[in-house]
Amino acid sequence: MERTIVLTHGWFDGETHHAEDAALLIESGVIQQVLCADREQFPHLLPDGWDVNLPIREAAYVMPGLVEAHCHLLLDGGELEFKKRSDYLKSDRDTMLSSGRSQLAANLQHGITLIRDAGDIHGINHQIREEIATGTSVAPTLRSPGVAIRKKGRYGSFMAREVADRESIAATVEEIAQTADDLKIVLTGIIDFEHGCVKGVPQFDREELGLLVDNARLCGRSTFAHCSGEAGLNLAVDVGVDSIEHGFFMTEEVLQKMADKNIAWVPTFSPVHFQWAHPELAGWNVETVGHLSRILDRHRTMLELASRLGVPLIAGSDAGSYGVKHGAALLDEIDFMTEAGVPLEQVLRGATSLPRKLWGCPSADIATGNKADLILLAGSPFDDPANLRELIAVYKDGWFEPENQYVEGGKGAIASGDVKYSKAC
Ligand SMILES: [Zn+2]
Repeated sequence: MERTIVLTHGWFDGETHHAEDAALLIESGVIQQVLCADREQFPHLLPDGWDVNLPIREAAYVMPGLVEAHCHLLLDGGELEFKKRSDYLKSDRDTMLSSGRSQLAANLQHGITLIRDAGDIHGINHQIREEIATGTSVAPTLRSPGVAIRKKGRYGSFMAREVADRESIAATVEEIAQTADDLKIVLTGIIDFEHGCVKGVPQFDREELGLLVDNARLCGRSTFAHCSGEAGLNLAVDVGVDSIEHGFFMTEEVLQKMADKNIAWVPTFSPVHFQWAHPELAGWNVETVGHLSRILDRHRTMLELASRLGVPLIAGSDAGSYGVKHGAALLDEIDFMTEAGVPLEQVLRGATSLPRKLWGCPSADIATGNKADLILLAGSPFDDPANLRELIAVYKDGWFEPENQYVEGGKGAIASGDVKYSKAC
C-alpha cells in the first residue's frame, strides 16, 4: 500500500477554484481524503495510519490532469519545412511510430493525461493506444478514432478513409467502430486563407451525415466532426453530431442550437493563429493576413458568446497541424480561449472535467474516492495563467516529473524536498 501526501496552497477540483491550503491523501493511486488545512494544521488532522513521515510532495497548485481534445499524434506540428512534412507522410511505419511516441511524450511533459486523437490513415494512433495499454510507464490515456471518414476525393487524405455513396456508409462505420473510441467525420473542407472562406460545399449531404451519425450511435460511438463554414455548421447541428471541431465562421443561430442540444465545441484557435502570427512561412500577403485576423476576431467573439449561452466548450489544439506543437499548443489554446473572454474556470473545466464527462471517461476531479489523475504546479493559474506552464509533477498510475522543470528559485518555485510546515500564505 503506497501512501503519499500532497500539500498545496490552492487547487482546482475540476469544477471550482479553491484559494486555500489543502493536503491530499493518496493511497494506492486513489484520493482518500482532501484535508482543507494549512501546513501547521494538517499533521493534527491526519487519520490513523497517516503521518508526516510518509512521502510528501509540495506544490503551489494542484488540478486534474489536462485533456487535449483534438490532436494528430501522427504529425509533428513543430516541423515547419513543407517538403519534410510531405516526405514524412511517405515514410515507413517505424518512422511514423517513433514520431507518434515522441508526440505522446510531449503531451505528458505538459501535464496532459488524456488525449483524443483526431484521426490518421495509417493507424499510428491505434497502435500507440495499444502500446500505452500494455506498457508500464506513466502515459496519457489515448482515445483513438483510428481512421476518420471523408467523402471520396475530398479533403482529409492523411486522416480519413473515403466513402463513395450512401450504400457504403453503414458498412464503413460499422467496421471503423469496431476499434474506434469515437467516430471522426470530415464534414467540410479546410479554410482557404487567401480568400477567407471555407473551400467547397460540405462533403456529405443531410441524409449521408444522418446515416453516419445514426450508424455510429447504433455501434455505441459518439461523433466528432471537422466542420467550418455556415453550411457545414448548420448541417452538423441539425443532424446532431456530438462535437464540432474547429467551427470557424460560427453563427449565433448555430451556437443557440448547440446549447439546446448540448453539442460540444472544440474551437482549435492554434493552427489559424500560427498562420496569422507567422505569415512569412507560407508567404501570405497583407490581404491574406487581414482575412486571418478577421477570422480570428470573429472566432473570439463567437466563443465568448458560446460561453454565455452555455455551449459545452472543450480545449483542443489540433496539434500536429503546421506550427502547432504537441503539448505546448494545448496551453496556448487555453490562453486563446481565456483571451476571447471565457472565464478561466470555464476554460479549465473544458480542459479537465467536461471532456471526461462527455466522453464517458472516469472522473479525474480532485475528490475523495476518485483515482488520482492530477498535476502539480509551481504557481496558481488564477494568479497568472502562465503558471500552467510551471509543471512540477504528474500523477497518473505513478509519478512523472517533466524534464526542464520550472527554473529553481524562479516564479512560484518551491525547492524540491522542502517539507517544512510553513505558515499558510
Ligand atoms: Zn484536426
